[in-house]
Amino acid sequence: MIRDIELLRSVEYRRKLSQCVHCGLCLSACPTYAIFGLETDGPRGRIALMRAAAEGRISLEDFRRAFAPHIMLCLACRACETACPSGVRYGELVETARLVVEHNRTPGLGERLLRWVGMQLVLPRLWLLKLLARLLWLYQVSQLQRVVRALHRWLPKTLRAMDNILPPITPRYYNYRRPVLASGMSHGRLLFFTGCIQEAFLSQVNQATLRVLQRNGYEVHAPTEQTCCGAPHLHLGDLETARQLARRNIDVFLSQDGHYEAVICNAGGCGTILKEYPHLLADDPKYAERARRFAALVKDVSEFLAEHLNVPPRGEIKARATYADSCHLRHGQKVVSQPRKLLKSIPGLQLVELQAPDRCCGSAGVYNIAQVDAATAILDAKMADIAATGADLIVTTNTGCHMQLLAGVRRAGLSAQVMHLVEVLDLSYRLGDGSSAATAVVQREDAR
Ligand code: SF4
Ligand code: SF4
Repeated sequence: MIRDIELLRSVEYRRKLSQCVHCGLCLSACPTYAIFGLETDGPRGRIALMRAAAEGRISLEDFRRAFAPHIMLCLACRACETACPSGVRYGELVETARLVVEHNRTPGLGERLLRWVGMQLVLPRLWLLKLLARLLWLYQVSQLQRVVRALHRWLPKTLRAMDNILPPITPRYYNYRRPVLASGMSHGRLLFFTGCIQEAFLSQVNQATLRVLQRNGYEVHAPTEQTCCGAPHLHLGDLETARQLARRNIDVFLSQDGHYEAVICNAGGCGTILKEYPHLLADDPKYAERARRFAALVKDVSEFLAEHLNVPPRGEIKARATYADSCHLRHGQKVVSQPRKLLKSIPGLQLVELQAPDRCCGSAGVYNIAQVDAATAILDAKMADIAATGADLIVTTNTGCHMQLLAGVRRAGLSAQVMHLVEVLDLSYRLGDGSSAATAVVQREDAR
């Protein structure tokens, strides 16, 4: 018997499936279809599999051998959703299908332990995640990572993948008990969603976000009781934990005293799920309305700044830059023009578009750890596209992409720097102040 198959048989799910008219216009947008060339590794084929399951046409054997592998090979990047002229909500369809697959898996003891430590123990507790980041920083500065990397070929694939995506860590953290006060004329107050991985492993991105918002006249508060957005849990089929985390974030952010213009998020993946809390909690009578109120406040930092860039950046950054869209920001939140508009506002920066800017980099939540070979093939295609632009700066707007692109630069032997959009804006502001904080981007350009 296929556990929880009724999730795929509900009237609503079947109605969503029936919106697909099999035209195939989404196929060219799909990274897994491009890599594997199989109908079942593209959106139309996956929808056909979901429909077969919904109509009771697959056995348990078919479910295990065909349905589950093709569904789990999907990145859930939602590029097909943007390409679809019939408005098929593929993201919601695949989310439920993955849930059913996860509920029918029996992971081994090692995987269960790893998941419990990662998902239940560490991710919801930022202090533990920061402790882990400090230990990993020691692992990096003690040169132990170099030794481990020399021995990579003998390590299990998953451990190797985890080590590959570890960014250089600087464990210096802002004390969020103090709000950041606006500089110059005040334009209002904002709440800041720090994220968990972003805060622990890429804290410089959050600090640049605070400075850029402050520079534009905003007072920024980051409630310290906030927690993980729940996206990793949702990816791994743990709907209940994702809902608990969503309720906690809603309570924390809606209980802040006073008026706030928005809840700012700088990670495309986290922001998408924060905006989708109303969908996640639609059946919860106590939280459905609160989830809608909360989601209406959430804005990606680029979305907010594109409308509220009260102080234009003045410092010149002489770099050839390319912008690698975060799938969730582009396809989930439909934020496409705003990051580009902000980059174009920076003096000296030359923005070069990728051939396929809407193609996933292979990060996709925990995909680069769970589907190592497919993620590596997708990353290689992305890096070839980036290399062809001749860019010396790769700009990103999502934590997972940031880590994946850093690994991609190393793997492809490129010398390009990877920076979050707000780091580039922050750099321009500091250079505009006459700050001596010249970066490698500028130095490299000067050295040519
Ligand atoms: S998902 Fe949309 S674009 Fe793809 S086959 Fe179905 S209707 Fe066509
Ligand atoms: S979500 Fe992405 S990987 Fe999955 S079918 Fe759609 S385009 Fe392909």
